[in-house]
Amino acid sequence: MTAFLNFIGSAWVAAADGATFERRNPADGSDLVGLFPKSSPADAAAAVAGLEKGWRAWAATNPEVRVEVLNRAADIILTRVDALAAELTREEGKTLASAATEWKRVAANFRLYAGEALRTRGETFPVADSMVYSVREPVGIVLVITPWNFPVSLPSRKIGPALATGNGVLFKPSEISPLSGQRMVEILLEAGVPAGTIALVQGHGPELGNALVEAPSVRAVTFTGSYATGCAIHRAAGPDKRLQLEMGGKNPCIVLADADPDKAAKIIVQGAFSLTGQACTATSRAIIVGDIYDAIVEKVVAAAKGFVLGSGLDAATTMGPVATRAQYDKVRGMIAVGKAEGLKMLAGPDDLPDLDEAKGGFFIPPTVFVDVPPSSRLAREEIFGPVLAFHRAASYAEAVALANDVEYGLAASIVTRDLSSILSYAKDIEAGIIKVNSATGGVASTAPFGGIKHSSNQTYKEQAGHGVMDFYTLTKAVYLGA
Ligand code: NAP
Repeated sequence: MTAFLNFIGSAWVAAADGATFERRNPADGSDLVGLFPKSSPADAAAAVAGLEKGWRAWAATNPEVRVEVLNRAADIILTRVDALAAELTREEGKTLASAATEWKRVAANFRLYAGEALRTRGETFPVADSMVYSVREPVGIVLVITPWNFPVSLPSRKIGPALATGNGVLFKPSEISPLSGQRMVEILLEAGVPAGTIALVQGHGPELGNALVEAPSVRAVTFTGSYATGCAIHRAAGPDKRLQLEMGGKNPCIVLADADPDKAAKIIVQGAFSLTGQACTATSRAIIVGDIYDAIVEKVVAAAKGFVLGSGLDAATTMGPVATRAQYDKVRGMIAVGKAEGLKMLAGPDDLPDLDEAKGGFFIPPTVFVDVPPSSRLAREEIFGPVLAFHRAASYAEAVALANDVEYGLAASIVTRDLSSILSYAKDIEAGIIKVNSATGGVASTAPFGGIKHSSNQTYKEQAGHGVMDFYTLTKAVYLGA
């Protein structure tokens, strides 16, 4: 069995009290992925103290040095992508192909933010008899808290820009994906990030969260995860820290009556069931306008029944398990809610057995409920699993009203050939990411990313592309007198 450590100061160390936790393969609980430090607030304090000593040396480096380090990290990833992907699959459950795509995205993100290291700069402001100029400085120590569903690509678009601009990074991966966090930090250290610039603290979020967030020298917190945790972090952070909160979604795909049913069904299936439905941008509601409803339902149900469930390590698998027993219980609980509400289920499990972490095998077949009323919990709550609700709508206006009638506003798609409806949709839909004739998931690293309503806080909404650089830099104005 492999035991892993925290990285604090300049050393790999166990939790101060020696406590550990284990992570098992969600497809097969007999496969122990590793043993990780179960850190306490004392470990969090030691990690912060190590960064307080070290991060300013990194801030003082020439940006070109940071460019080289991030590009080297990208090179290392690409030489090991198969091995890294296999570990990610064992730990999180997604298919090998998805895991490899994710690690390649990390390499691309590191290269993207290496470029931003040189592009992020101040301005000059001429005034009479003088000049004013602005400089962009690192914010200080940035706390990175991320979920397990994209355990390396999400951290990379936070750690990448943070390091590119000379910040120190305090990284707390999800306890569900600790090995991915370990590999990320190992690679960055190997690429040349100096000790004292990055710290890795493994452990249980609710126990460690406040100690990390409240530490006075943590100047910025970038978080991706659930709305409930985002609210807890918002409360703990107080008014003077920078805060970036990327949270849940309840994403609609609207299909208008002119759409090709085959194409629409493909887009819905991809949006709803990729990554076992465990994506913040997953489609969880299909809203169909007009008579094509039945044809689309029939095609989606057929495709849902065609998925091959199994370990992501098996090449034949097209849908891996959900990541944990808690996820499994939550998703099967929501399927039970649908049945208890009397909804019609056209694809999905008759019954799902009780399981535990030691046993694993958290497989949930793609599930489709039809004619779901807008008041149903299935229509309103984020499920974060392979469960899709179909709604009928009489018109475009009714479809958009239904789509907007939830607390979240992250991603939304529309399938139609009608340009004026597309243009209206981009204005009418309450979402930060709008996809036309493609699935809600799958985004460009260079484009803005973030939502509205419960999906994102609005102070620093952008968490991809050039827009993120504002979060990681502090602007100062300097007035030059004669
Ligand atoms: P979560 O329970 O909120 O956990 C996210 C992270 O926060 C984990 O590292 C977790 O650690 C940590 N955490 C938990 N409690 C904390 C606390 N009190 N203080 C500080 N940190 C704490 O979310 P999840 O269930 O892992 O992930 C699924 C959610 O993430 C969904 O709602 C999904 O939509 C959202 N998500 C959003 C995006 C986006 O870009 N908008 C992307 C992906 C996922 P532990 O794991 O150790 O508890």
